[in-house]
Amino acid sequence: MKIGIVGGGFMGLVLAHEISKTDATVKVFESDSQLGGLATHYDYGSFIWDKYYHVILPTDDHLVGLIKDLGLETELEWRRSMTGYYVNKKFYPFSSSKDFLFFKPLNIIDKMKLAFTIFYGSKINDRKKLEKITVKDWLIKLGGKRTYQKFWSPLLIAKLGDSHERVSAVFIWTYIKRLFQARSSAAQKEHMGYVKGGYKTVFDQLQKALKEKNSTIHLNTGVDKINSGQNGGIEITYNGKTEHFDKVIFTAPLNVLEKVSDPKLVTVSKNKQSVEYLGVLCMALVTNKPLTPYYVLNLADEEVPFTGVIGMSSLVDIEQTGGKYITYFPKYVTANHKYWSKNDQELESIFLEGVSNLYTDFDEKDVVSTHMHKAFKVQPLQVLNYSEIIPKTQTNHPDFFVVNTSQFVNDTLNNNSVVNHVKEFMVDFKKELLQANK
Ligand SMILES: Cc1cc2nc3c(=O)[nH]c(=O)nc-3n(C[C@H](O)[C@H](O)[C@H](O)COP(=O)(O)OP(=O)(O)OC[C@H]3O[C@@H](n4cnc5c(N)ncnc54)[C@H](O)[C@@H]3O)c2cc1C
Repeated sequence: MKIGIVGGGFMGLVLAHEISKTDATVKVFESDSQLGGLATHYDYGSFIWDKYYHVILPTDDHLVGLIKDLGLETELEWRRSMTGYYVNKKFYPFSSSKDFLFFKPLNIIDKMKLAFTIFYGSKINDRKKLEKITVKDWLIKLGGKRTYQKFWSPLLIAKLGDSHERVSAVFIWTYIKRLFQARSSAAQKEHMGYVKGGYKTVFDQLQKALKEKNSTIHLNTGVDKINSGQNGGIEITYNGKTEHFDKVIFTAPLNVLEKVSDPKLVTVSKNKQSVEYLGVLCMALVTNKPLTPYYVLNLADEEVPFTGVIGMSSLVDIEQTGGKYITYFPKYVTANHKYWSKNDQELESIFLEGVSNLYTDFDEKDVVSTHMHKAFKVQPLQVLNYSEIIPKTQTNHPDFFVVNTSQFVNDTLNNNSVVNHVKEFMVDFKKELLQANK
């Protein structure tokens, strides 16, 4: 059985890995010159690390399971990590029960309300009601205005930028469930993980495992067309060539699906209200000195041009990054944001000025290099009643499948969910493969 997979991001590769454990052989098509999609790596000069920041949480059971399955357990490092807040021009740690007690922007009543919101949120199992209320209204209803302004709003801005008040309460509910469970219950302290060498190590190992199973990966090979085969199966056209597959699985974004697949193969239901995507502009700053003790700094300050600070080197040992420190400055924006019309140099100077204003001891002489990364469509905005406007993808051919992150309804975009999504897909797909082999 010959299976074609469109997209060599994390979804495509994990899928290829699972399928290659059966008797089937897999061919992966990736339009870019390297694997990984949003989780790909980047050459920072003296070291290679993730293009965008990635972290593994202790609750990422599916992802950790995959890492072990790939034989990379010894490469997985867990470290104590810290979260910080920047409120009223001051930095506050927010990583332990002690930090919580001494967090000055909130008074004792606010803190009780905050603790209640987190406890209450973590116990909710049905998202339906939460879809009908904005995150702001829900958080203010449970925890009051000041808790929202001083605690939740910076956290939401770090994740969603200016659009943070348009999402439903589902967003923060999934976040509470994923992140707050990451604190080890014994110590009530955060722990986060990474794989030595970054996600490149994971992709290299996936690639190696595929090779051992005679499966292949084709880089610089964008799929131009997907059609049904004349006598069953599916045909893929790439580089002017057409190849037949018994089954094809599409993992790239929906706009690509609509462009390349024969409309008879798949119906993407459209609603009056279309899904709006957030993109990210992210400056990676390599420095000779550390900038921040926090893995995440949540900030709500309109004068700061980015929406958060990710101190990767507060987590990752610096020998992993050539003895240098790497800090990411993301800004999440919608498609019409003015920053998209600026070139990298203009953006870098805006962001660097923001860094100087935020960290008064920052000296540009310590900068080794700056890198502006941009991704136009990263995640859908989970607005009110999102599950009703999300396009439903219905494939009309028994040998064509769509498995991508646009199908996440109850989830934020993360790789633990990607692995889980693949696992759920494989339950029926394995049965189909068995049936087809009979
Ligand atoms: C700033 C940022 C921070 C993040 N932080 C974390 C984190 O801390 N932890 C975490 O778990 N996750 C994190 N994520 C999410 C993680 O990166 C995604 O879950 C993951 O990359 C999604 O993989 P995917 O394969 O579904 O999609 P993509 O990565 O988008 O892969 C799709 C692939 O399809 C390819 N493609 C497109 N068109 C074609 C075509 N016509 N033919 C062939 N190939 C095509 C693309 O080039 C791409 O490689 C983060 C993401 C971002 C952007």
